[in-house]
Amino acid sequence: MKTLYKRLRGMPDILPTTVGAWQHLEHTVRTAMNAYGYGEMRTPIIESTDLFERSIGEATDIVEKEMYTFESRKGSKMTLRPENTAGCVRAAIENGMLQPGSVNRVWYSGPMFRYERPQLGRQRQFFQTGAEVYGLAGAEIEAELILLSARMFKQLGVFDALTLEINTLGTPACRAKHRELLIAYYTEHLDQLDDDSQRRLKRNPLRILDSKNPDMQQLNENAPKLQDSLCEEACEHFDLLQQHLSGSGIRFTINPRLVRGLDYYSHTVFEWTTDKLGSQSAVCAGGRYDGLLEQMGAANVPGVGWAFGMERLLALMDAVSALPLSQTTDVFVMSAADTPVGFALALSEEVRDALPQSAVLQHTGGGSMKSQFRKADKLGATIALVVAGDEVANNTVTIKPLKSGADQQTVKRSELISTIGSLL
Ligand code: ATP
Ligand code: MG
Repeated sequence: MKTLYKRLRGMPDILPTTVGAWQHLEHTVRTAMNAYGYGEMRTPIIESTDLFERSIGEATDIVEKEMYTFESRKGSKMTLRPENTAGCVRAAIENGMLQPGSVNRVWYSGPMFRYERPQLGRQRQFFQTGAEVYGLAGAEIEAELILLSARMFKQLGVFDALTLEINTLGTPACRAKHRELLIAYYTEHLDQLDDDSQRRLKRNPLRILDSKNPDMQQLNENAPKLQDSLCEEACEHFDLLQQHLSGSGIRFTINPRLVRGLDYYSHTVFEWTTDKLGSQSAVCAGGRYDGLLEQMGAANVPGVGWAFGMERLLALMDAVSALPLSQTTDVFVMSAADTPVGFALALSEEVRDALPQSAVLQHTGGGSMKSQFRKADKLGATIALVVAGDEVANNTVTIKPLKSGADQQTVKRSELISTIGSLL
């Protein structure tokens, strides 16, 4: 067949052959979120451009070069969401959820869009699941969020393949002090900065530390450490988080170079990383973003959250052989050419009525019994129900177990359901 239309670069299709893994992941997420009392938010995929420009920060990769931005018919600028933290905060404020003293635990899951160079683990449309908490300033809620992610990763069978890295970005005051030291240091070594870093020096020097350029590594190693500028409040907060994590049996490493790409973080930042996915090693990332809420109009409402990339998590599950088996057929209903039209259809419905959890696939399109059995085998069906002239005349059904090797049997229609039940 001629392919007249092709999908856009970096925007994959998810087909029935792989959707079972997605559904397993989504089910695990939903169950875990319920277990911690988080409520689901579904915000629009398109928001006004200035929401992202202002909240994510003008001098970030996302805003500078990764957003899908276009004009509406009336000329207002809008953007396909590159992430969902800003959208959730916008929605929480707009819907009056952030009253003084309120605490909100929310989560979301859905597609995000970033104009990046597609490669393994990096797409232009990708899915993120995230959890966010508004209204709690302490390290305790950061620990809860990390525990929630850890529980999910355990349930998905990937926990042992992940490392938790944490860091503190301090309070706005200690960040400002560090920023000045960084500017002085990099200005002194201006000739060693690559183009990106020279640009960042003027706009957002902290992000030079985030550089993926190996030539910048040595220079970044020797840069002034935020740790040396941390105020007492920041140190206490970070200590407390470490105590909570250790007390809950969660192992972590402190990575002083973990700064995250977004401008709105303060205090705790963290990432779950893996060595099983090549250079796209970050599976889940998060941190505290009190400043974002303030900037968006909810002063004194602290915020903290994380997001993981669903494709990367699925790739990790695949790498450690934790993907569930693809969806199976439980009952395959086949009929001979002499069976009246509608008999098999009614039979399939009867099984679905009685056993709503089972997958019942009815053969369509005729063909010999032999070819129908081949199809059932190919599908990995557990049992086949066979009807032909005899069965119709006697009101019976022949049941053939396809996997267990047990004998085929012909049962009265009234015994059909109980017999299938015992075989599945
Ligand atoms: P990276 O450093 O890999 O570009 P990031 O810092 O841009 O990641 P975040 O904005 O923190 O990523 O998003 C959280 C998670 O979403 C990442 O850890 C990753 O798992 C996933 N993610 C981000 N961008 C992509 C993408 N283009 N394709 C697939 N997954 C992505
Ligand atoms: Mg990125």
